[in-house]
Amino acid sequence: MVLRFLAASKCRKLWMARCDPRCQVIRDARLEGDRRAYMHVGCDDETVCAWAPAAARLPDSILAGIFLHEFGHLAGGDEFGADRWVYRRLGLSIKYTTPLKLETVDLATLTSKLSGLPGVFGF
Ligand SMILES: [Zn+2]
Ligand SMILES: [Zn+2]
Repeated sequence: MVLRFLAASKCRKLWMARCDPRCQVIRDARLEGDRRAYMHVGCDDETVCAWAPAAARLPDSILAGIFLHEFGHLAGGDEFGADRWVYRRLGLSIKYTTPLKLETVDLATLTSKLSGLPGVFGF
């Protein structure tokens, strides 16, 4: 998971981060009508939860934005601090421009950050 490597390159403890792609808490929130429920942190230490069946339908720019925001939380940030961490450490600004106000990053900028990582990804 390439975004984890990007985030972990700036925060050691994120090397340990895991993803639970089928968090029942998120699933239940969606069933109750929370259309912004795709990912969160807090169920388990060092874990980003997702509800994959819904998240898989998101465009890459939003999926990446939410993921990075959640990594920002794992790195120690609150709602504002998470995005600030992503901006300061990764140089990516998270915008909330979609109708649902979901975290979004610019894919071209993200790609250029990823290509700057040590050659594990074959870029
Ligand atoms: Zn969860
Ligand atoms: Zn958040």
